[in-house]
Amino acid sequence: MTFRRIKYKSEADFVKLRESAKVVAITLAEVAKYVKPGVPLTYLDSIGEQCIRDHHAIPSFKGFEGYPASLCLSVNDVVVHGIPKPNDVLRDGDIVSVDCGALLNGFHGDFAYTFAVGEVKEEVRLLMERTKESLMLGIKAAVSGNTVGDIGHAVQSYCEQFNYGVVRELCGHGIGRDMHERPDIPNYGRPHTGDRLQPGMCICIEPMITLGTHKIYMEKDGWTIHTQDNKPAAHYEHQMIITDKGTEVISSYKLIGEVLGTQELY
Ligand code: MG
Ligand code: MG
Repeated sequence: MTFRRIKYKSEADFVKLRESAKVVAITLAEVAKYVKPGVPLTYLDSIGEQCIRDHHAIPSFKGFEGYPASLCLSVNDVVVHGIPKPNDVLRDGDIVSVDCGALLNGFHGDFAYTFAVGEVKEEVRLLMERTKESLMLGIKAAVSGNTVGDIGHAVQSYCEQFNYGVVRELCGHGIGRDMHERPDIPNYGRPHTGDRLQPGMCICIEPMITLGTHKIYMEKDGWTIHTQDNKPAAHYEHQMIITDKGTEVISSYKLIGEVLGTQELY
């Protein structure tokens, strides 16, 4: 086992990280325009890839441990890492989690948003809304001096009051020159436990929350993660830097909000 230390970033690194995150923000908003019934997932992926490359960045996911696409497109009971396949088409009432990574000037941006396709059931709309809210609570806990357990506890305690499942096997992470760095940021945990957040860190918090069991399985493709009971899952991810003056969320849903007509806090 290799010991991976936490890689602290400089002010100059933060500047680059903000730029990478901006490419992801623009790309997710571009993809948002095409999230409609009848649209093939491979088309969404091509829109995403083109947008990333138009901004002189490289899709972080493409080729990562053999992953074949530029976006992860996870529909309904797919929690994360959904591979867009040619025959997969969005239908009215679906939800699709779009996860996007962009590498620019040596640093990665990585965040995600779950979209409704047409009209979704009320229970699914609430799942989306509350998953996003749990992310906001996680961000509030993500301040210098707190621990990753404080973040996980904030997400878990909020979601479990609704009897939602909090996926255990996948988690948020540090990010920088590598897409996945230390520390791991689980979406469950106990306050005051785990790695301590310190100035110079850049992290992604990404609750994966389900309408039923938290248990998951992986498809034979080695990527696609489903809920075991095939109930829907939502996934939102934000990226932030920890400084001694506070935490700055460098990802943004505001451009998505302009497309969807929603108010987004970050
Ligand atoms: Mg991530
Ligand atoms: Mg991601």
